[in-house]
Amino acid sequence: MITLIFATNNEHKITEIRSLTGPSFSVITLQEAVIDIDIPEPHDTLEKNASEKSQTIHRITKQNCFSEDTGLEVFALNGEPGVKSARYAGDARNFQANIDKLQQKLSGASNRKARFRTVISLILDNQEFLFEGICNGTISEQQKGENGFGYDPVFIPDGDTRCFAEMSLAEKNKYSHRQKAVSKLIDFLKNMPA
Ligand code: IMP
Repeated sequence: MITLIFATNNEHKITEIRSLTGPSFSVITLQEAVIDIDIPEPHDTLEKNASEKSQTIHRITKQNCFSEDTGLEVFALNGEPGVKSARYAGDARNFQANIDKLQQKLSGASNRKARFRTVISLILDNQEFLFEGICNGTISEQQKGENGFGYDPVFIPDGDTRCFAEMSLAEKNKYSHRQKAVSKLIDFLKNMPA
């Protein structure tokens, strides 16, 4: 089985990714690999940030690894917060402050359509591959639910009436951007020549 280091310190992402990969490959976290680093995300696209994260870890470990970068893209805000999703309301990366800022910016907007977009960067045998997953939905007026993280309390995926934060992880996985990107990664690994 292939082992990949997952280049993140985000516990929520580790939980989600582990719930998605099943037996297709083995995931090692930075903590398990004893790598203590705050990986930079300095770029203006999810693709470049995902690459920066996986390449940083690959430089240090020389091992196969992957990273992901995710953004919430709101149509009425021309794609904001996008690549700035984590720090939308400031460097504290506070989930509630980010949601409050988003709701303030959307107040009075008739179009509340949005999407989550995840880009995974895989480095396998020194080559990089990118995989994208998109989940379309709407920003709810009311904040609901306690599960998940980030903008989950205000994001309703198309095909449901509940916010992600009202769903179990298995339910969120049926719709999620991260699940779609991970499925592409799994298909890619399955179809690799032995
Ligand atoms: P990053 O990929 O670590 O830069 O994360 C960007 C930010 O987007 C996170 O801090 C969260 O606020 C938000 N985010 C990423 N993935 C999700 C998700 O699945 N649900 C809700 N918010 C998310």
